[in-house]
Amino acid sequence: MLKDYEFWFLVGSQTLYGPEVLDTVARRAAEMADKMNASGLLPCKLVYKTTVKSNQEIAETVREANYDPKCAGIITWCHTFSPSKMWINGFVDLQKPYCHLATQYNREIPNEEIDMDFMNLNQAAHGDREHGFIAARLRMPRKVIAGYWEDEDVQMRLGSWMRAAVGVMFSRSLKVMRFGDNMREVAVTEGDKVEVQIKLGWQVNTWPVGKLVETMDKVTDEEIDALMGCYCQQYDMATDDLETVRYQAREEIAMKKMLDAEGCKAFSNTFQDLYGMRQLPGLASQHLMAQGYGYGGEGDWKVAAMTAILKAMSEGQTGGTAFMEDYTYNLNPDATYSLGAHMLEVCPSVAAERPRIEVHPLGIGDREAPARLVFEGHAGKAIVVSLVDMGGRLRLIVQDIEAVKPILPMPNLPVARVMWRALPNLTTGVECWITAGGAHHTVLSYDVTAEQMKDWARMMGIEYVHIGEDTTVEKLEEQLFLNDLAWKLR
Ligand code: MN
Repeated sequence: MLKDYEFWFLVGSQTLYGPEVLDTVARRAAEMADKMNASGLLPCKLVYKTTVKSNQEIAETVREANYDPKCAGIITWCHTFSPSKMWINGFVDLQKPYCHLATQYNREIPNEEIDMDFMNLNQAAHGDREHGFIAARLRMPRKVIAGYWEDEDVQMRLGSWMRAAVGVMFSRSLKVMRFGDNMREVAVTEGDKVEVQIKLGWQVNTWPVGKLVETMDKVTDEEIDALMGCYCQQYDMATDDLETVRYQAREEIAMKKMLDAEGCKAFSNTFQDLYGMRQLPGLASQHLMAQGYGYGGEGDWKVAAMTAILKAMSEGQTGGTAFMEDYTYNLNPDATYSLGAHMLEVCPSVAAERPRIEVHPLGIGDREAPARLVFEGHAGKAIVVSLVDMGGRLRLIVQDIEAVKPILPMPNLPVARVMWRALPNLTTGVECWITAGGAHHTVLSYDVTAEQMKDWARMMGIEYVHIGEDTTVEKLEEQLFLNDLAWKLR
């Protein structure tokens, strides 16, 4: 999917310096795009599109970018000076993600070579300021990356932003399939689906559980055999109850057929609406998540969609991204940790070891004991992400965490589990999370960064709240108070 997208490199200039300078600019811009593509640090292709010199050229290029489904964003830079009133009409119409790469062709000032011709050709230091002003004046959502274009960290930052921009493109066409409604009485999993479609593009709609059961009834033994083979390749079969595992395969095949038929990349279900089903999908949902589908339990379509988006943003990366739920704490001051899990459905992409397929009874839902994948999450830096509906606006909350190997074996807990230390520390982190209204359901990702989520939120035009190493409750409360005022004015 990342490979389906490209980013357009637009270089700003003007005709003042003559055709020779413009030829040099074009040649260098093409060389820069080639070298940045060749480094392997960019997840999507960077295409040198054109050197723009007039209002009309910019407006036309932006129209083309808006129209081209392959174009996931524009990246601008001003080799020379590009008077920015020329950019106004184009920028007003721009509907694609936008990054301003403030760089220059040469790394160093050449002592002998430098004269006024050199200065006129290489004046990004003031060309990029003029360019930056108009985007600030227009209050455009943008990313500014400054640094030398051949440096690894600059290309890594550009690549990281590209992934956030692909998250925007993915979000705008995302369809979510709801099997049943939200769990009764729960508030945080609710939300305004019309507002979400306006802001984020998601098409969130419901399909009857009865239709899923009909589809399950039509799944053949051969289809189930094939999926069982796949399960055995990827997981340890730690149960003799193969009929129960086969039932999960039946559920998975049926859900996948319905999702694919509608072009849905995320789904939710609830243990309160399994009418006609013998098991809550456990292994079935986990294995669908491992294939990139987003999932949310208890009808939580917001977390289902966010799981799919973070998976799309981190395509090809290996840390893992999963639907998660904060369950319980270890409050010993020497080892303060959160334990995250779910009844069944944590994505095996975060597993430290080969997951085991086990069958155990489930206390709620009034159905047969379901098969599920049991494993420990691996250690490493990660984030947890929650999208909540504040009434009139959406708030994205991101917290930095450090996952650890679970400090206890917990032999009687038959579900996938991840243990982590929240930043800045457990109690301050919990106070901040609760103050901001973050949900119990989250997306946990070892691949996506807080900066990428900030970029994504800015491009989507929603509120962003970050809880990290330097966050205090007092600072956060002040930010939330000011955010409330600011969003009321919008
Ligand atoms: Mn839950």
